[in-house]
Amino acid sequence: MLFTDFSLDKRLLESLKHMGISEPTEIQQQALPIALAGKDLMASSKTGSGKTLAFLLPALQRVISTKALSKKDPRVLILLPTRELAQQVYGQLRLLVANTQYKAVSILGGENFNDQAKSLSRDPHFIVATPGRIADHLEQRHLYLNGLELLILDEADRMLDLGFAPQLKAINEAADHKRRQTLMFSATLDHDHINDIAATLLKTPSHVAIGASH
Ligand code: ADP
Ligand code: MG
Repeated sequence: MLFTDFSLDKRLLESLKHMGISEPTEIQQQALPIALAGKDLMASSKTGSGKTLAFLLPALQRVISTKALSKKDPRVLILLPTRELAQQVYGQLRLLVANTQYKAVSILGGENFNDQAKSLSRDPHFIVATPGRIADHLEQRHLYLNGLELLILDEADRMLDLGFAPQLKAINEAADHKRRQTLMFSATLDHDHINDIAATLLKTPSHVAIGASH
């Protein structure tokens, strides 16, 4: 199977070519059709299996191929537990958006709050963030999520371990509308609180578990 087997925009296929990537990994093969169809998804597979592109490609495809719900609000919000993980995902996202007209920013804990407020005021289409910091900006009304089309939680188990459930719920409520899609990725799905947060955030999700032991 190849990436060209999916209905992905030419620019995305070109970017993948430049990255030297042609064959989707197992998690990508299973997650892409579900995510591209606009469905909610809860997915797990081990570290290093390619989860990042499994959500970045559908995110870019959705933004490229559909009309924005709002001119100002971000269209895609990607949440990660730590700065380091968010920076890695932001790096891959930048490679993909570089070939398009869309804007991406990262909003991470430990960086200058006012600078972040400024970059949010430039109406980015994609935001990669840690939950605490983005919740602070929501509270300060530096951004609104009424037009959010896609909410992505990566390393959901670790976000819960770090105590981010209240921030995830606040973000979920700020982006609570019928047309929102939610994708949740985790190294494991048999974490105590994963099902609770999934029940709150996801609408009748499809499940994909690669290499699960049961
Ligand atoms: P995970 O999030 O599951 O831990 P990543 O998305 O970080 O995994 O991917 C791990 C590595 O594999 C990255 O260096 C990424 O560029 C590479 N990679 C992802 N998908 C593919 C693919 N289809 N073919 C080859 N390499 C890939
Ligand atoms: Mg990952």
